[in-house]
Amino acid sequence: MSLTSEQLTVIRECAKDETSYQKLLTLIGEIDERGSYSESVSEEGHFFDLSAEDSNLLRNAINTIPVSVYVKDRKSRFVLTNNTNLHQMGLSSVEELYGKTDFEFTKGSEAQPYYEAEQTLMQTGVPIIDFEIHDPASPNGPQWLLTTKAPIRNQNGEIVGLIGINRNITKQKLAEQSLAEERNLLNTIINNIWDKIYIKDRQSRFIMANASTLTAQRSTRETIVGKTDFDFMDAERAQRLYEQEQHIMETGEALVNEEWFVPASLTRDVDRWFLVTKVPVYDERGAISGIVGINREITSRVIAAKQKAELEFERERSRILSDFIADISHEFRTPISIIQTAIYICENSQNAEKQEVYTQRISEQVNRLKELVESLISMSRLDQQDNITVRPVRVSQTIGIMITRLHSEISVKNLHVEQITDDDTLTVEAHEVLLGTAFNNILNNAIRYTPEGGTIEVNTTLRSGKVLIEICDTGIGMSEEVIANIFTRFYREDKMRSTSGFGLGLPMALRIIELHKGSIEVESTVGEGSLFRVILPQYTEG
Ligand code: ADP
Repeated sequence: MSLTSEQLTVIRECAKDETSYQKLLTLIGEIDERGSYSESVSEEGHFFDLSAEDSNLLRNAINTIPVSVYVKDRKSRFVLTNNTNLHQMGLSSVEELYGKTDFEFTKGSEAQPYYEAEQTLMQTGVPIIDFEIHDPASPNGPQWLLTTKAPIRNQNGEIVGLIGINRNITKQKLAEQSLAEERNLLNTIINNIWDKIYIKDRQSRFIMANASTLTAQRSTRETIVGKTDFDFMDAERAQRLYEQEQHIMETGEALVNEEWFVPASLTRDVDRWFLVTKVPVYDERGAISGIVGINREITSRVIAAKQKAELEFERERSRILSDFIADISHEFRTPISIIQTAIYICENSQNAEKQEVYTQRISEQVNRLKELVESLISMSRLDQQDNITVRPVRVSQTIGIMITRLHSEISVKNLHVEQITDDDTLTVEAHEVLLGTAFNNILNNAIRYTPEGGTIEVNTTLRSGKVLIEICDTGIGMSEEVIANIFTRFYREDKMRSTSGFGLGLPMALRIIELHKGSIEVESTVGEGSLFRVILPQYTEG
């Protein structure tokens, strides 16, 4: 008996139990052995010489299975069919089918190749296994069938016909088609978006890359597969990316929208910025099998933001410049108009005493203008300086020198100035002249804003490894608003400019202390006094 595995499966599906299955095999075996095939249709419609009981059993069994089963004679005429096949062919009775060939159900041109294949089968005995047939004009709509045809032989081994089994794979085909369509759609989308999308395996090798990635890497779909970042960039950068991806795959923690800068040397054209997202990919067992990455280019956005910042910076610069010009003009205008008035009076008055007073006033204002210009030059020099030449300087000594220099101002106001320190060797690395200027400006203010008989205390100590200099006065003090502005250039609480000073003393002191890597803090209470705290890094030998 020469039954194919397909045929055996069909027979097993027909049988309701093992006994029926064995019985069917015996029957088929008998058909095969006896091969009592007849070209004439018997009364029962049988073409094989079977007992009525056997024939019925076979027919019932085959009728119940959901695959088309049919038998054809040597001239490819249908001689046996099951119901599934009848239905598949859009027929309602066996009479419409038996004795006919495919030519009567399909167009000749379509039936011809099948006919020829069947004739070859019957001549050679070589079965046709799992051949796919597309039937677009089927009465049940376009159908796909998977057909297997095998020869049937008589007891002399001569081929007397064929048994055909068609499995309807339309559903599967339609599902495959829609899957393919979906895949095509997805590919079209992935390849037409500007983002770089890629999938890498557990060893960070490219498995898939979209068109945008391929263009960027100057690669093709075929050549990129299996490559790593080491093939496209310098080893150091590739190693960093590799370690990052391995970390994602080991921990399962995705990288989301991280901003990356890729210099022109790498992109081989211009500097570029990307937002990079990399997420782990899981296999069907739930294990991480790779990563999917999306690089979104944000170069134009970053450049626009930079240009905006530069524009804002420029605007701020020109605003500062115009404020500066307004402030400076104000500072110059007052002495100039005093000088103008004094000159006018001197020219028009014959009174020698008066002339002397006004000449003195002119001299004072000229000095003030000189001081202003000198302060401006000093401030401008400090602005341009980033580094200063330093050497170890004893803080108490510098402060002592400054207090001595201010002796006359101190004694005029009868102030009590006390310098306290628990360690007069405390040293900082400083530009001695500049540091002296900073202390002078703070001390000068303390003297100026402290009423007669008041006290100024300068305390130098070491706190948390830093040198702390506290300059405390019992002067007029400052409101919160004043404190907030004292380091702004030209700011003075005295809007009328009736006191000396240009509002540059503290901004200059701050700039100097910052050049020494230090800071200034202020505490003050109106009517009680002020405390300026200068903090500088301590210098220790070795
Ligand atoms: P100026 O040379 O005009 O004093 P500064 O920059 O030195 O300019 O100080 C700015 C302002 O800070 C002063 O005009 C004053 O209002 C306030 N100020 C500074 N030091 C003191 C102080 N010790 N006591 C009270 N007010 C002070």
